[in-house]
Amino acid sequence: MELQGHLLYIDITQICGIGCAFCMYADKHKAGMSMELSTLARENLVALINAPSVKRISISGEGEPLNNAKVFHEILGLSNGGKSFEFITSGFFPHAKMAEFYDETDRIVTANGDTCNIRLSADSHHIEKVKWRAHGFSLDYLQRCQPSGLSFSFRSIDTDRHFTREYLTKELQHWGIEANISELGPLEDVLVVGEQHFGIDYKNLVHPAVGTAEGYLDMHGYIAAIEAKVNKHFTFGSLNRPPLANGMDVTIKPNGDVYLYGIETHRLGNLHFDRLDWQRLQAHLVRNPLARALYTQPLTELLSRLENTDLLHSIITRVNNPYWLVKELAGHDGLLQAWEAA
Ligand code: SF4
Repeated sequence: MELQGHLLYIDITQICGIGCAFCMYADKHKAGMSMELSTLARENLVALINAPSVKRISISGEGEPLNNAKVFHEILGLSNGGKSFEFITSGFFPHAKMAEFYDETDRIVTANGDTCNIRLSADSHHIEKVKWRAHGFSLDYLQRCQPSGLSFSFRSIDTDRHFTREYLTKELQHWGIEANISELGPLEDVLVVGEQHFGIDYKNLVHPAVGTAEGYLDMHGYIAAIEAKVNKHFTFGSLNRPPLANGMDVTIKPNGDVYLYGIETHRLGNLHFDRLDWQRLQAHLVRNPLARALYTQPLTELLSRLENTDLLHSIITRVNNPYWLVKELAGHDGLLQAWEAA
Protein backbone atom coordinates (compact mmCIF):
# COMPACT_ATOMS: atom_id res chain seq x y z
CA MET A 1 0.00 0.00 0.00
CA GLU A 2 1.59 3.29 -1.09
CA LEU A 3 1.14 6.02 1.53
CA GLN A 4 2.40 9.60 1.45
CA GLY A 5 1.45 12.92 3.03
CA HIS A 6 0.32 11.80 6.50
CA LEU A 7 -1.88 13.84 8.79
CA LEU A 8 -1.28 13.79 12.54
CA TYR A 9 -4.12 14.96 14.82
CA ILE A 10 -3.27 15.53 18.47
CA ASP A 11 -6.25 16.02 20.80
CA ILE A 12 -4.68 17.79 23.76
CA THR A 13 -7.66 18.17 26.09
CA GLN A 14 -11.19 17.11 26.96
CA ILE A 15 -11.86 20.31 28.91
CA CYS A 16 -14.46 22.65 27.43
CA GLY A 17 -16.97 24.97 29.07
CA ILE A 18 -18.48 26.33 25.87
CA GLY A 19 -21.36 23.87 25.64
CA CYS A 20 -22.30 23.68 21.94
CA ALA A 21 -25.61 21.86 21.66
CA PHE A 22 -24.38 19.41 19.02
CA CYS A 23 -21.05 18.55 20.73
CA MET A 24 -20.01 14.92 20.12
CA TYR A 25 -17.64 14.99 23.10
CA ALA A 26 -19.94 16.45 25.77
CA ASP A 27 -19.83 13.18 27.79
CA LYS A 28 -16.01 13.48 28.01
CA HIS A 29 -16.02 17.04 29.37
CA LYS A 30 -17.03 15.83 32.84
CA ALA A 31 -13.82 13.81 33.28
CA GLY A 32 -11.97 16.65 31.59
CA MET A 33 -8.57 15.04 31.08
CA SER A 34 -5.77 17.01 29.46
CA MET A 35 -2.65 15.67 27.77
CA GLU A 36 0.66 15.82 29.62
CA LEU A 37 3.91 14.83 28.01
CA SER A 38 5.96 12.02 29.54
CA THR A 39 9.55 11.44 28.42
CA LEU A 40 8.48 8.64 26.06
CA ALA A 41 5.60 10.78 24.74
CA ARG A 42 8.08 13.50 23.80
CA GLU A 43 10.38 11.00 22.06
CA ASN A 44 7.43 9.52 20.14
CA LEU A 45 6.14 12.95 19.11
CA VAL A 46 9.62 13.99 17.95
CA ALA A 47 9.67 10.90 15.68
CA LEU A 48 6.11 11.40 14.40
CA ILE A 49 6.28 15.17 13.87
CA ASN A 50 9.66 15.28 12.18
CA ALA A 51 9.18 12.45 9.66
CA PRO A 52 9.40 13.86 6.09
CA SER A 53 6.19 11.99 5.17
CA VAL A 54 4.05 14.23 7.44
CA LYS A 55 2.14 16.97 5.60
CA ARG A 56 0.45 18.57 8.62
CA ILE A 57 0.21 18.36 12.40
CA SER A 58 -3.22 19.42 13.57
CA ILE A 59 -3.79 20.26 17.22
CA SER A 60 -7.33 20.04 18.44
CA GLY A 61 -9.26 18.41 21.23
CA GLU A 62 -12.19 16.48 22.46
CA GLY A 63 -12.56 19.83 24.19
CA GLU A 64 -11.21 23.34 23.53
CA PRO A 65 -7.42 23.15 22.96
CA LEU A 66 -6.85 26.66 24.34
CA ASN A 67 -7.47 25.00 27.72
CA ASN A 68 -4.12 23.24 27.34
CA ALA A 69 -2.11 25.93 25.55
CA LYS A 70 1.00 25.04 27.58
CA VAL A 71 1.19 21.55 26.06
CA PHE A 72 0.42 22.94 22.59
CA HIS A 73 3.46 25.20 22.88
CA GLU A 74 5.55 22.29 24.18
CA ILE A 75 4.52 20.23 21.14
CA LEU A 76 5.50 23.08 18.79
CA GLY A 77 8.90 23.09 20.50
CA LEU A 78 9.51 19.44 19.48
CA SER A 79 9.78 20.29 15.78
CA ASN A 80 13.11 20.33 13.97
CA GLY A 81 11.72 22.85 11.46
CA GLY A 82 9.97 22.98 8.10
CA LYS A 83 6.63 21.76 9.49
CA SER A 84 3.05 22.96 9.02
CA PHE A 85 1.05 23.07 12.24
CA GLU A 86 -2.61 23.84 12.59
CA PHE A 87 -4.56 24.84 15.71
CA ILE A 88 -8.34 24.33 15.61
CA THR A 89 -10.18 26.52 18.11
CA SER A 90 -13.26 28.53 18.99
CA GLY A 91 -10.85 31.33 19.99
CA PHE A 92 -12.79 32.02 23.19
CA PHE A 93 -10.08 33.79 25.24
CA PRO A 94 -10.52 37.51 26.03
CA HIS A 95 -8.72 39.42 23.30
CA ALA A 96 -5.70 40.49 25.37
CA LYS A 97 -5.07 36.87 26.36
CA MET A 98 -5.66 35.71 22.79
CA ALA A 99 -3.01 38.21 21.61
CA GLU A 100 -0.53 36.76 24.16
CA PHE A 101 -1.33 33.27 22.87
CA TYR A 102 -0.70 34.35 19.26
CA ASP A 103 2.52 36.16 20.22
CA GLU A 104 3.91 33.07 21.97
CA THR A 105 2.80 30.70 19.18
CA ASP A 106 4.42 32.92 16.55
CA ARG A 107 7.61 33.22 18.59
CA ILE A 108 8.04 29.43 18.76
CA VAL A 109 7.16 28.55 15.16
CA THR A 110 9.25 31.40 13.75
CA ALA A 111 12.28 30.37 15.83
CA ASN A 112 11.93 26.78 14.58
CA GLY A 113 11.27 27.65 10.91
CA ASP A 114 7.70 26.31 11.04
CA THR A 115 4.26 27.77 10.34
CA CYS A 116 0.97 27.52 12.20
CA ASN A 117 -2.46 28.12 10.76
CA ILE A 118 -5.08 29.13 13.32
CA ARG A 119 -8.42 27.66 12.19
CA LEU A 120 -11.31 29.43 13.87
CA SER A 121 -14.79 27.93 14.18
CA ALA A 122 -17.23 30.29 12.48
CA ASP A 123 -20.61 28.56 12.48
CA SER A 124 -23.96 29.21 14.10
CA HIS A 125 -23.43 26.46 16.70
CA HIS A 126 -20.21 27.92 18.13
CA ILE A 127 -20.84 31.62 17.62
CA GLU A 128 -23.93 31.81 19.79
CA LYS A 129 -21.94 30.33 22.71
CA VAL A 130 -18.76 32.39 22.54
CA LYS A 131 -18.58 35.76 24.30
CA TRP A 132 -15.17 36.87 23.04
CA ARG A 133 -15.25 36.35 19.30
CA ALA A 134 -11.86 36.00 17.68
CA HIS A 135 -12.61 36.38 13.96
CA GLY A 136 -12.40 40.15 13.50
CA PHE A 137 -9.86 40.45 16.30
CA SER A 138 -7.55 37.87 14.66
CA LEU A 139 -7.50 39.50 11.22
CA ASP A 140 -6.95 42.86 12.92
CA TYR A 141 -4.06 41.29 14.91
CA LEU A 142 -2.64 39.95 11.63
CA GLN A 143 -2.70 43.43 10.07
CA ARG A 144 -1.29 45.20 13.14
CA CYS A 145 1.35 42.71 14.31
CA GLN A 146 2.22 40.89 11.05
CA PRO A 147 3.32 37.64 12.71
CA SER A 148 5.60 35.92 10.21
CA GLY A 149 4.75 32.35 11.25
CA LEU A 150 0.95 32.59 11.63
CA SER A 151 -1.91 32.40 9.17
CA PHE A 152 -5.66 32.25 9.75
CA SER A 153 -8.58 30.37 8.24
CA PHE A 154 -12.15 29.55 9.19
CA ARG A 155 -14.23 26.41 9.52
CA SER A 156 -17.94 25.85 9.69
CA ILE A 157 -20.45 23.07 10.05
CA ASP A 158 -23.14 25.22 8.41
CA THR A 159 -22.85 23.53 5.03
CA ASP A 160 -25.65 25.73 3.70
CA ARG A 161 -23.01 28.53 4.13
CA HIS A 162 -25.54 31.31 4.66
CA PHE A 163 -24.87 31.95 8.37
CA THR A 164 -21.08 31.78 8.09
CA ARG A 165 -20.84 34.12 5.11
CA GLU A 166 -23.09 36.73 6.65
CA TYR A 167 -21.56 36.47 10.12
CA LEU A 168 -17.94 36.80 8.93
CA THR A 169 -18.65 39.73 6.62
CA LYS A 170 -20.50 41.68 9.33
CA GLU A 171 -18.10 40.79 12.14
CA LEU A 172 -15.13 41.95 10.08
CA GLN A 173 -16.95 45.18 9.21
CA HIS A 174 -17.19 45.92 12.96
CA TRP A 175 -13.40 45.80 13.00
CA GLY A 176 -13.17 48.11 9.97
CA ILE A 177 -12.21 45.26 7.64
CA GLU A 178 -14.01 45.03 4.28
CA ALA A 179 -14.20 41.41 3.11
CA ASN A 180 -15.72 39.60 0.15
CA ILE A 181 -16.51 35.91 0.12
CA SER A 182 -16.67 33.75 -2.99
CA GLU A 183 -17.29 30.08 -3.54
CA LEU A 184 -14.27 27.94 -4.43
CA GLY A 185 -15.88 24.50 -4.54
CA PRO A 186 -18.53 22.24 -2.96
CA LEU A 187 -17.06 22.61 0.54
CA GLU A 188 -14.80 25.64 0.23
CA ASP A 189 -15.13 29.42 0.16
CA VAL A 190 -12.44 32.03 0.14
CA LEU A 191 -12.65 35.27 2.12
CA VAL A 192 -10.75 38.08 0.44
CA VAL A 193 -9.44 41.17 2.24
CA GLY A 194 -7.45 43.34 -0.18
CA GLU A 195 -4.63 41.10 -1.39
CA GLN A 196 -5.05 38.53 1.38
CA HIS A 197 -7.01 35.30 1.05
CA PHE A 198 -8.42 33.25 3.95
CA GLY A 199 -9.91 29.79 3.43
CA ILE A 200 -13.31 28.76 4.78
CA ASP A 201 -13.86 24.98 5.03
CA TYR A 202 -17.29 23.50 5.48
CA LYS A 203 -17.86 20.14 7.21
CA ASN A 204 -21.21 18.54 7.71
CA LEU A 205 -22.87 18.33 11.06
CA VAL A 206 -22.67 14.96 12.85
CA HIS A 207 -25.95 13.76 14.42
CA PRO A 208 -28.10 16.63 13.03
CA ALA A 209 -31.06 17.34 15.30
CA VAL A 210 -34.58 16.91 14.01
CA GLY A 211 -35.59 20.25 12.49
CA THR A 212 -32.02 21.26 11.49
CA ALA A 213 -32.24 23.94 8.79
CA GLU A 214 -32.52 22.76 5.20
CA GLY A 215 -29.40 22.80 3.06
CA TYR A 216 -27.36 20.41 5.18
CA LEU A 217 -25.75 17.60 3.22
CA ASP A 218 -26.65 14.02 3.99
CA MET A 219 -23.90 11.39 4.21
CA HIS A 220 -23.94 10.52 0.50
CA GLY A 221 -24.05 14.19 -0.53
CA TYR A 222 -21.11 14.93 1.78
CA ILE A 223 -19.04 12.04 0.40
CA ALA A 224 -19.80 13.22 -3.17
CA ALA A 225 -18.72 16.78 -2.23
CA ILE A 226 -15.42 15.52 -0.76
CA GLU A 227 -14.81 13.41 -3.88
CA ALA A 228 -15.38 16.46 -6.09
CA LYS A 229 -12.96 18.47 -3.91
CA VAL A 230 -10.09 15.96 -3.97
CA ASN A 231 -10.86 14.52 -7.40
CA LYS A 232 -10.76 10.88 -6.28
CA HIS A 233 -12.96 8.32 -4.54
CA PHE A 234 -13.49 8.77 -0.82
CA THR A 235 -11.53 6.27 1.23
CA PHE A 236 -10.34 6.61 4.82
CA GLY A 237 -6.90 8.09 5.38
CA SER A 238 -5.59 11.54 4.57
CA LEU A 239 -6.92 12.34 1.09
CA ASN A 240 -4.40 13.98 -1.23
CA ARG A 241 -5.25 15.25 -4.70
CA PRO A 242 -3.91 13.14 -7.62
CA PRO A 243 -1.21 12.30 -8.59
CA LEU A 244 -0.30 11.99 -4.89
CA ALA A 245 -1.26 8.79 -3.08
CA ASN A 246 -3.20 9.16 0.16
CA GLY A 247 -1.51 9.22 3.56
CA MET A 248 -2.24 7.89 7.01
CA ASP A 249 -4.66 9.83 9.16
CA VAL A 250 -3.62 9.28 12.78
CA THR A 251 -5.22 10.70 15.89
CA ILE A 252 -3.75 10.82 19.40
CA LYS A 253 -6.22 11.18 22.28
CA PRO A 254 -5.61 13.23 25.46
CA ASN A 255 -4.68 10.03 27.37
CA GLY A 256 -2.11 9.14 24.70
CA ASP A 257 -4.11 6.40 22.94
CA VAL A 258 -3.39 6.28 19.21
CA TYR A 259 -5.92 5.39 16.49
CA LEU A 260 -6.40 5.69 12.76
CA TYR A 261 -8.82 8.60 12.45
CA GLY A 262 -12.39 7.29 12.27
CA ILE A 263 -11.40 3.69 13.09
CA GLU A 264 -11.45 3.74 16.86
CA THR A 265 -12.35 0.07 17.14
CA HIS A 266 -8.63 -0.75 17.02
CA ARG A 267 -6.04 1.01 19.20
CA LEU A 268 -2.58 1.20 17.63
CA GLY A 269 -0.70 1.94 20.84
CA ASN A 270 -0.21 4.57 23.50
CA LEU A 271 2.10 7.58 23.40
CA HIS A 272 3.28 6.99 26.98
CA PHE A 273 3.86 3.20 26.90
CA ASP A 274 4.73 2.13 23.35
CA ARG A 275 7.52 3.08 20.98
CA LEU A 276 5.82 4.71 17.96
CA ASP A 277 6.88 5.81 14.51
CA TRP A 278 5.16 5.89 11.09
CA GLN A 279 6.59 2.52 9.99
CA ARG A 280 5.10 0.80 13.05
CA LEU A 281 1.74 2.54 12.54
CA GLN A 282 1.71 1.52 8.89
CA ALA A 283 2.43 -2.10 9.89
CA HIS A 284 -0.67 -2.00 12.14
CA LEU A 285 -2.75 -0.64 9.28
CA VAL A 286 -1.61 -3.32 6.84
CA ARG A 287 -2.28 -6.11 9.37
CA ASN A 288 -5.80 -4.94 10.24
CA PRO A 289 -8.43 -6.20 7.71
CA LEU A 290 -11.03 -3.53 8.54
CA ALA A 291 -8.54 -0.64 8.32
CA ARG A 292 -7.06 -2.09 5.12
CA ALA A 293 -10.53 -2.27 3.51
CA LEU A 294 -11.40 1.29 4.57
CA TYR A 295 -8.07 2.66 3.31
CA THR A 296 -8.14 0.90 -0.07
CA GLN A 297 -11.79 0.64 -1.12
CA PRO A 298 -14.19 3.51 -1.82
CA LEU A 299 -16.62 3.92 1.06
CA THR A 300 -19.61 4.09 -1.30
CA GLU A 301 -18.65 0.60 -2.60
CA LEU A 302 -18.24 -0.77 0.92
CA LEU A 303 -21.64 0.67 1.88
CA SER A 304 -23.28 -0.91 -1.16
CA ARG A 305 -22.04 -4.32 0.04
CA LEU A 306 -24.00 -4.04 3.28
CA GLU A 307 -27.55 -5.25 3.28
CA ASN A 308 -29.83 -2.27 2.63
CA THR A 309 -31.81 -2.55 5.85
CA ASP A 310 -33.79 0.02 7.80
CA LEU A 311 -31.12 -0.25 10.50
CA LEU A 312 -28.32 0.71 8.11
CA HIS A 313 -30.40 3.52 6.65
CA SER A 314 -31.14 4.92 10.10
CA ILE A 315 -27.46 4.71 11.16
CA ILE A 316 -26.34 6.58 8.03
CA THR A 317 -29.02 9.25 8.48
CA ARG A 318 -28.24 9.71 12.17
CA VAL A 319 -24.45 9.74 11.96
CA ASN A 320 -24.24 11.78 8.75
CA ASN A 321 -20.42 11.76 8.70
CA PRO A 322 -18.16 8.97 7.38
CA TYR A 323 -15.63 9.40 10.19
CA TRP A 324 -18.26 8.56 12.82
CA LEU A 325 -19.72 5.67 10.89
CA VAL A 326 -17.39 2.86 11.99
CA LYS A 327 -17.94 3.60 15.68
CA GLU A 328 -21.69 3.44 15.15
CA LEU A 329 -21.62 0.28 13.00
CA ALA A 330 -19.37 -1.44 15.56
CA GLY A 331 -22.21 -1.15 18.08
CA HIS A 332 -24.29 -3.56 15.99
CA ASP A 333 -23.26 -7.21 15.74
CA GLY A 334 -22.23 -8.41 12.32
CA LEU A 335 -22.33 -5.09 10.43
CA LEU A 336 -18.57 -4.60 10.19
CA GLN A 337 -17.70 -8.23 9.42
CA ALA A 338 -18.68 -7.83 5.75
CA TRP A 339 -15.96 -5.18 5.40
CA GLU A 340 -13.36 -7.11 7.38
CA ALA A 341 -13.76 -9.97 4.91
CA ALA A 342 -13.75 -7.67 1.87
S1 SF4 B 1 -16.22 24.17 21.46
FE1 SF4 B 1 -15.91 22.13 20.57
S2 SF4 B 1 -15.50 20.78 22.34
FE2 SF4 B 1 -16.44 22.66 23.16
S3 SF4 B 1 -18.64 22.23 23.30
FE3 SF4 B 1 -18.27 23.21 21.30
S4 SF4 B 1 -17.94 21.49 19.85
FE4 SF4 B 1 -17.71 20.66 21.95
